[in-house]
Amino acid sequence: MNGDGTVYARGLRKCYGDRVVLGSIDLDVECGEIVCIIGPSGSGKSTLLRCIDGLEEVDRGILRVNGEDLGFVETETAYRARNRKEVAMQRTRIGMVFQQFNLFPNMTARENVMAGPVLVKGVAKKAAASRADSLLADVGLSGHGDHYPWQLSGGQKQRVAIARALAMDPNVMLFDEPTSALDPERVGEVLAVMKGLAGRGMTMLVATHEMGFAKEVADTVMFMDGGVVVEQGPPTEVLGNPKEARTQKFLEKVL
Ligand code: ADP
Ligand code: MG
Repeated sequence: MNGDGTVYARGLRKCYGDRVVLGSIDLDVECGEIVCIIGPSGSGKSTLLRCIDGLEEVDRGILRVNGEDLGFVETETAYRARNRKEVAMQRTRIGMVFQQFNLFPNMTARENVMAGPVLVKGVAKKAAASRADSLLADVGLSGHGDHYPWQLSGGQKQRVAIARALAMDPNVMLFDEPTSALDPERVGEVLAVMKGLAGRGMTMLVATHEMGFAKEVADTVMFMDGGVVVEQGPPTEVLGNPKEARTQKFLEKVL
C-alpha cells in the first residue's frame, strides 16, 4: 500500500524514564501541507519528529503516518510485537533530514543517494546511479556525484542528504533543524531546495529557527514548549499575532 502524505496523531505521549518529553500531542497534517515546528531547545521538537519517523517508539496514543498506524499503543509490548516489521516498511516512505547531515562518510555523494534504493528496495545499481545523478542535479549538485562528504561544504552535504531522502520516494519529509549547523551564507541554498520541494506538493514537517522561512512557506506554524503544542495556526496568526504569552515571549527572543 502506498502512503497518502498525511500525519495524524492523538494523545501522543513519550517519556524517557519518568520524564514526560511529549505530553499529549495531537496532529492533523494534510497531504502537501507544510508545518513548521518552532520552540525553545528541549521543547520536544526532535523527539516528535523521531516518533513520526519511527525512530522512537511512542508510549501512548495514536500515530498514523501515510494513513498507516505507526503506533497504537495499549501496552509497549503489544506495540513492539505488532509493528516492528511494519515500522521498517513504513520508514521507507518517510524521509528525514538531520541537523548533522548523517551522510555515510566513506561513500560518495552518488553512493549516499543510491544506498537506500539499492540496499532496501533492491533497485539495480545502474538505474539507481542514474536516478541519483538526476536527484543531485535537482538539488543543484550536478557534477558533485563523485565527491565524498569531506569534500563538500555544509550546505552541499545537506543538499545531498535531501537528495538521499528523496531517492526513497517518500510521501512525507521531516526536517530537524536542517540549517542550524550551517554557516550563515550556506543557509539560503538549503532553504531554496526546501522551498522547491514545498512548491511541488510534498508534505513537510520542519523543526526550524528560520522564522523567515516559516513565515513564507509554512501553512501551519506549531509552537511547542515543555513537550506540548502551546499554539498552532497560520504563520500570520502564530508569528504575527500570537495569542499565548509563552509564544509571545519566545518570539520576542528570536525575532
Ligand atoms: P528539541 O528538539 O526541541 O530541542 P528534544 O526533543 O531534543 O527537544 O528534547 C526534549 C527533551 O527530551 C529534552 O529535555 C531532552 O533532554 C530530552 N531527551 C531527548 N532525547 C533523550 C534521550 N534519548 N534520553 C533522555 N532524554 C532525552
Ligand atoms: Mg532538536
